[in-house]
Amino acid sequence: MLNCIVTKFGGSSLASDEQFRKVRSILDLVPARRYLVPSAPGKRFSGDDKVTDLLYRCHALASEGKSFDAEFASIEERYVDIARGLHLRLPVADHLAEVRRGIAEGKGRDWCASRGEYLCGLLIADYLGWRFVDAADGIVFRDDGSLDDAKTQEKLSSLLADGVSSVIPGFYGALENGEVRTFSRGGSDITGALVARAVNADVYENWTDVPGFLMADPRIIERPAEISSITYNELRELSHMGASVLHEDAMFPVHRSGIPTNIRNTNKPYHPGTMISKSAPQEISVPTITGITGRKGYSVISIEKSMMNSEVGFGRKVLSVLEDAGISFEHMPTGIDSMCVVVASEALAPHQEAVLEKIRALVAESGSVTVADHLSIIATVGRGMVHNCGTAARLFSAMSRARINVRMIDQGSSELSIIVGVDDDDFEATIQAIYHEFVE
Ligand code: ASP
Repeated sequence: MLNCIVTKFGGSSLASDEQFRKVRSILDLVPARRYLVPSAPGKRFSGDDKVTDLLYRCHALASEGKSFDAEFASIEERYVDIARGLHLRLPVADHLAEVRRGIAEGKGRDWCASRGEYLCGLLIADYLGWRFVDAADGIVFRDDGSLDDAKTQEKLSSLLADGVSSVIPGFYGALENGEVRTFSRGGSDITGALVARAVNADVYENWTDVPGFLMADPRIIERPAEISSITYNELRELSHMGASVLHEDAMFPVHRSGIPTNIRNTNKPYHPGTMISKSAPQEISVPTITGITGRKGYSVISIEKSMMNSEVGFGRKVLSVLEDAGISFEHMPTGIDSMCVVVASEALAPHQEAVLEKIRALVAESGSVTVADHLSIIATVGRGMVHNCGTAARLFSAMSRARINVRMIDQGSSELSIIVGVDDDDFEATIQAIYHEFVE
């Protein structure tokens, strides 16, 4: 029996009064759902505006001394429509007027953006008859804009210690002097995770408009299978390479506290979605692979140097050239007298000449340095691979049957993923070959 569930609802789940009604019925279904973290109202249809985007535009116009009347009118209309549709008594017009005044008076960009969640929180709290707890009182940022994790935990947990059902708006918090700061875009996911940790929730439910995680990108695989359970470590590998449903930073607080995250779909409230946990439940048979993801647009810097193997510190010198240029490397397969460094082409391009020159100087006359572009990296991730021999063999045979040339191989030491590099032109075909080998 679950005691305490924290729910976070994304923008599309709160885009209209109709969506608000769905949220209430989801909460009514399970009394343990006692905390709610809302995003700002999102798109109602494709081409619609997200309230957060409108707020950023209002702030930009106001700071150029231009009129932001039209943008603000669209924001007003969104909240007034919801309040009217739900017959709320809340003085929405007064709250909106206060926000408008703040923007006109030159309040900061973060304050302006945060008002989307703030107003949405006031509305949903009024609709549910729950307490409104301002995130500015519980989520603490440092002056450099980073989250003060320890202070946040202390403040939030004492604010919510009485167990009263509460709404805590997502996306923002404040510096110790009260000045509002936001997370990066999509940051309400992080607020939800922090609230879940503060109240020591049994589950953190993240309600969106998708059925959970899919095994592959539906633009590449037609109707890919859904992932019903996944570990935080697997998800980290998958999201690093492209799959994104959840803000990357939202995993850490809950992961560390051992609280599972359940991705759910507001439009299908009975669908179990995807359960993300520290160590997935011992299913009778864990599927060999959990998901496949990847990205195009990498470059490989190939370095050859005779006797590289015996030169202590050579790898470090190469990596410091990249570090000095602010380039993070993705993979680094090595041979005896050769090494390759895989980096995002976009990051390398502006520094390519300087970086190559410095690496050439390290190699001197006894070797060579070349760059090849248009590499895609594909990660096949699965905790089930540890227990199954022959996974790599199956993966590479599938690629060979599809006549795909493997340009790079890297198997994580965690045995959680097999990473292959292929030509950008083979990107889709590789994902299809691997998916069909392991899934259907
Ligand atoms: N409303 C913010 C955004 O659009 C934060 C969020 O929705 O999580 O990015």
